[in-house]
Amino acid sequence: MDCIFCKIIRGETPSKKAYEDDLMLIFEDVSPKAKLHYLAVPKHHYALIDQMNAQDQADIGYILRKIAKLKNILGLNDGYRLTINQGENAGQSVHHLHIHIMGGQTLDWPDYRK
Ligand code: AMP
Repeated sequence: MDCIFCKIIRGETPSKKAYEDDLMLIFEDVSPKAKLHYLAVPKHHYALIDQMNAQDQADIGYILRKIAKLKNILGLNDGYRLTINQGENAGQSVHHLHIHIMGGQTLDWPDYRK
């Protein structure tokens, strides 16, 4: 599969891994938008929430709980933001579902209408 996150999952492209198990991977975003910026990805490839099967739905719940359990190890004990970009208007650039995890600082709340 010619997908950059699949290549990271297979170990063909290097990444700074923070956590890995059979279902998921957490690694540092190569172009961080916050002091701490990780990506949590399911190992099963799909691009959009629309495309999730029943197992994918269960796995996302597992991934969210895992992020919360790892927050101290990730340096996120003072809070963090999770973002899932979906499609063109959101600027999704990698078409393998991923959860942005940002923290390590106070995060403002942009008014996107400006
Ligand atoms: P999105 O715009 O929501 O699709 O987010 C894709 C994210 O993947 C961006 O924040 C990129 O900086 C990040 N990214 C792309 N390639 C890599 C890579 N090889 N290693 C780590 N992060 C990456």
